[in-house]
Amino acid sequence: MSDLDRFSASRQVPAVSVPTVGGKGVLELLPGREVLLGESTRVRRLLPTLGRRMVGAWAFVDHYGPDDVSTTTGMQVAPHPHTGLQTVSWLLEGEVRHRDSVGSDVVFGPGQLALMTAGHGIAHSEMSPAAHPRLLHGAQLWVALPDAHREVAPHFEHHATLPGFTSDGLTTTVLMGSLGGATSPGTAYSPLVGADLKLAAGADVELPLEPDFEYAVLAAGGSATVADAPVEHGSMLYLGTGRRTVRLRAEEAASLLLLGGEPFEEQLVMWWNFIGRSGEEIAEYAERWNAQDERFGVVEGSDGDRLPAPALPAMPLRSRGRVR
Ligand code: MN
Repeated sequence: MSDLDRFSASRQVPAVSVPTVGGKGVLELLPGREVLLGESTRVRRLLPTLGRRMVGAWAFVDHYGPDDVSTTTGMQVAPHPHTGLQTVSWLLEGEVRHRDSVGSDVVFGPGQLALMTAGHGIAHSEMSPAAHPRLLHGAQLWVALPDAHREVAPHFEHHATLPGFTSDGLTTTVLMGSLGGATSPGTAYSPLVGADLKLAAGADVELPLEPDFEYAVLAAGGSATVADAPVEHGSMLYLGTGRRTVRLRAEEAASLLLLGGEPFEEQLVMWWNFIGRSGEEIAEYAERWNAQDERFGVVEGSDGDRLPAPALPAMPLRSRGRVR
């Protein structure tokens, strides 16, 4: 998906600190804010927020649906570019066709990883197939590439089956990195984890964590109790670092998304669909995309339709850290 939201700065909401019993461990609720993508698609943006911009290398989290798309065209994101990041597309329901400028053309569904490494530069489109399932429900995530790897050659990976483990009403699927001994085949460029956590009704489990990682849990489907704090559908709870486990409970069946990683210490400039290190770099990306420069290539079969980069803001773009 694409960041089509040009007016985000004025509508950002701060995180809410959740009181913790005995004051042990950070708990910060990120309630998300509604963003309109294009003309009809509404998503909830969990990252970046005013106060917290990243969780590990995870720099962007949009959650959408479940939406009934039986009488609409569903997802329609025309070709747009990316630099310096990976897109991680995860569906709970529905189907999306991904096409990109390195020749990929893949339809993916729930439980499958669509991982695009933009590196030096790529363009892609994401569309619901003409005949698509009734519901569309998922998350669009970006991972920032560390400086040493951000110019890597662009490539796309589709992993139709992913590893995971099951215990006590918890079924995990590991999208990125490792969890509980299961390791995703997706290429990662920094120490991180992304995992889908399905909780059965009445589940009450302790999930193993890495104390050096910071974490957040998104209630992607249904609601749950995470570290004794309620997390409603579509909101995300930031857990900080220093935890060896986290307790997960659900009264009704729920789907959570666990995101974590080593705190990302590099300063980034993130604007529109680009991640760079300076305002000058971002301006060059935008200029080259709008000039149809070969840096980003061409998405075959997209009928020339493409999303132009908007005008740069009047204020100079500044690099920012993981927290404000
Ligand atoms: Mn995109």
